[in-house]
Amino acid sequence: MVIIKSPEEIQKIRKCCKIAAEILYELENKIKPGIRTIELEKFSEELAIRNKVRPAFKGYNGFPFGLCVSVNNEVVHGMPSKRALKEGDIVSLDYGVYNDEYYGDAAITVPVGKVADESLRLVQITKECLYQGISESKEGNRLGDISEAIQRHAERAGFSVVRDFVGHGIGKSLHEDPQIPNYGIRGRGILLKIGMVFAIEPMVNEGTYKVKILKDNWTVVTEDGRNSAHFEHSVAITENGPEILSTLN
Ligand code: MG
Repeated sequence: MVIIKSPEEIQKIRKCCKIAAEILYELENKIKPGIRTIELEKFSEELAIRNKVRPAFKGYNGFPFGLCVSVNNEVVHGMPSKRALKEGDIVSLDYGVYNDEYYGDAAITVPVGKVADESLRLVQITKECLYQGISESKEGNRLGDISEAIQRHAERAGFSVVRDFVGHGIGKSLHEDPQIPNYGIRGRGILLKIGMVFAIEPMVNEGTYKVKILKDNWTVVTEDGRNSAHFEHSVAITENGPEILSTLN
């Protein structure tokens, strides 16, 4: 069941999302060759305390960290570790905030130092896929319009979209209905209504769309070992069209 949110509820989600966006911005500024991914986790913990919020992912289904850090061929749900980032890596940071009974969720992919043109193109196209999906998030459209726009943009660029992990509704739960696949058919799926709030999150692969999960039971990697990028915004459907909640200020 897709839950319609009141303006008061959206305000609470907006607050979580703004803080998630601020924390991601601070983390992005720390990214440089040599930094260990666990240092990013530690910094995110400090920022959560400073903002008086709870990291949403910590303890979620037993995930031990507040921040997901997914490097290169890692798609999502990568775990912070002693691994140091290297020049030429691309790193995805996914962060969720819980506060006052509501959630906010956002993700970015950041180049580490100077990276290959193809990696930069993957990052850029994935970000564009997110905005293509957001632009379809309006009253009267269908869920498939979001999915199809994301898939079309990724595949037109020669990339593929992950099938096994999807975007989601967000509110009093981190993951609510509907599931929002990054592939689909225009005109299909539920009708979009004012008050729906979605976390839209294209995961785009350089090569095959197929993924597998590592023995840690969390880290999702591409089956062919090629790179993957990930961007996410939480978006409210309003009478004025889509409102991106997870932006700064
Ligand atoms: Mg999400």
